[in-house]
Amino acid sequence: MCIFCKIINNEIPSNVILENEDFMAFHDINPKAPVHVLAIPKIHVESFNEVSPQTMKNMTKFMQDVAKEVGIDKSGYRVITNVGDNGGQEVKHLHFHIVGGAKLAWSHLSDADPMGKF
Ligand code: 5GP
Ligand code: ZN
Repeated sequence: MCIFCKIINNEIPSNVILENEDFMAFHDINPKAPVHVLAIPKIHVESFNEVSPQTMKNMTKFMQDVAKEVGIDKSGYRVITNVGDNGGQEVKHLHFHIVGGAKLAWSHLSDADPMGKF
């Protein structure tokens, strides 16, 4: 069973923010911003590549509710999902990082030279 399925099953403890029948949101164990939450579906889906539009439809509302719950909906935030090797996905259970609580950087996403900038 994957690590996030174990969190869903309460086999691994987590700091839960919001939960319903289908989704769960909890604080990232290694935050990269003052607010760093992970939102996941309770069904095991490997990544954004595999998720159904129906799941995403309901997940959209859930993530909006999470942003409100942690108080970053007005100040702004970023939603990120890493997919596969180049995306840097470490946990192979779909998750959306919801990060905020401060101005976020947007300067350097890749060591590859995009347009002769580096
Ligand atoms: P990825 O790199 O796959 O997009 O992100 C995985 C995220 O899961 C990382 O930000 C990492 O800190 C977080 N993470 C990994 N294991 C655990 C855990 O056991 N509990 C929590 N709360 N977060 C975890
Ligand atoms: Zn899983």
